[in-house]
Amino acid sequence: MNLYLRSADYQALAASDNTAALTPPLALGSVGEEASGDDRRWMGHALTLAERAAAMGEVPVGAVLIREGQVLGEGWNCPIATHDPSAHAEIRALRDAGHRAGNYRLPGATLYVTLEPCPMCASALVHARVARVVFGARDPKGGACGSVFHLLPPDQRFNHRLACLGEVLADECGDILRRFFQQRRRLARLERMPAPLPGGLPPQAAE
Ligand SMILES: [Zn+2]
Repeated sequence: MNLYLRSADYQALAASDNTAALTPPLALGSVGEEASGDDRRWMGHALTLAERAAAMGEVPVGAVLIREGQVLGEGWNCPIATHDPSAHAEIRALRDAGHRAGNYRLPGATLYVTLEPCPMCASALVHARVARVVFGARDPKGGACGSVFHLLPPDQRFNHRLACLGEVLADECGDILRRFFQQRRRLARLERMPAPLPGGLPPQAAE
């Protein structure tokens, strides 16, 4: 079952009835077009950036901003290392692109990100006038493309239109997160284990 309206359907709905724009249907999200080969290729690139976050012990999310087939900006999640709650992959990619382009607005660009954007990042994408966002895994805890919040694709209360496509390489993008959290739980369990007694026997074995 297709839980998500196509963005074109939603635009038509919003245009026909203003109240529809004010109360988006619960299932409104992304989807609405097929992922292209380029979409999958750039999502693969975003996954390599997510690996950098994992290597730093950060939740592995990566993002790359593309315009006219060229990398305009890259980012990976690192709020812990930078002491910055806004250091999500998308924000860092936008900042990188803004520096490179010499402009805080990035029209015509597509952002590829391995996890559905949160509300903060969704709003930043609208402010940056990004043309399109393509995300990988859905975020059932805070996704702003229909999983929890309904910010993207934006309705007519925003003054910028932004296309949105989800679940591109969703399995791969979800796997890297699952592996990361499994490893973190394993390490937490090991840290909770009592230290071995002198002689190498764990306390339980010596009882
Ligand atoms: Zn975010």
